[in-house]
Amino acid sequence: AKAAGRRTIKLFDAGMQRQADRRLLIHNQLRHALGNNELLLHYQPQHMVDSGELIGVEALLRWHPPGHSMISPAEFIPIAEETDLIIDIGQWVLLEACHQFVRWEEEGVRLPQLSVNVSAKQFHHQRFVEHIHEVLSATGMEPSALNLEITESVVLGNTEDAIHKMSELKQLGINFSIDDFGTGYSSLGYLKRLPVDELKIDRSFIQDIPHDVSNMAIVEAVMAMARHLGFNVTAEGVETRQQLEFLRKQNCSFYQGFLASKPLSAEHMQRYALRYLPA
Ligand code: C2E
Ligand code: CA
Ligand code: CA
Ligand code: CA
Repeated sequence: AKAAGRRTIKLFDAGMQRQADRRLLIHNQLRHALGNNELLLHYQPQHMVDSGELIGVEALLRWHPPGHSMISPAEFIPIAEETDLIIDIGQWVLLEACHQFVRWEEEGVRLPQLSVNVSAKQFHHQRFVEHIHEVLSATGMEPSALNLEITESVVLGNTEDAIHKMSELKQLGINFSIDDFGTGYSSLGYLKRLPVDELKIDRSFIQDIPHDVSNMAIVEAVMAMARHLGFNVTAEGVETRQQLEFLRKQNCSFYQGFLASKPLSAEHMQRYALRYLPA
């Protein structure tokens, strides 16, 4: 029994070690990813629930290290967030996404909106507002077409800084969404103090509709609250017609998900937009 116990501990340690090694490896390689052009953006279309109209795209980061398979942002973004790497990566994402959006415009593809994810550490960096100004002037991006997606953690970490920066950026015309809404430690009190335009209901609440009654109840509750507070709602991760139908009945404004399209390369997104936008 003693030997078995020891073996269990060893296996556990080995697993932990492998995990730590992978994190370290990712961290070290990520440091060079920017300079080596290994990062790129894909874009996922966002549509109106009722008319199907294309209303924007969300920029999503992709990393393909040479000689490795793709690493998911769900894995490397948290590692980048542990260090200052997220600042440079986040700034690159903003610059690249806005550049692309303006390039599309120049080619006659006028999307109403571009959504970009901003991590908590990036947002609370003392130069964040300056960084946004730099991106706007470097690219000529129209601020009112830019939507920043932040999570509840941004607000809960430092509410005063969040309100201050959001108000400043809001004055430029920039819009804000609360991403992954419902998954944080929501003290909903903060919502009415923030210049937020939109809530994005997390995919985990959409995925089992219409089989999961409690998820349906959560979506209904979020819709009721958003209506009272005057927020638009985007549903993430919509994969089936039934889910879209349910959202229509709930008067949800916008949706995103594999039902419409997976995230696409810039080139594919441009072709997709040409099919969906009025000529
Ligand atoms: P998120 O912001 O909640 O983005 C939505 C994720 O759901 C994306 O995963 C998207 O590909 C995926 N998705 C969209 N529709 C569906 C669907 O119908 N079914 C399923 N199963 N999945 C769907 P992705 O691209 O792997 O990104 C994961 C997360 O990584 C993002 O979640 C976001 O938190 C983070 N992330 C991605 N790009 C960036 C970035 O540029 N900056 C920051 N700070 N975070 C990013
Ligand atoms: Ca997002
Ligand atoms: Ca999400
Ligand atoms: Ca997220």
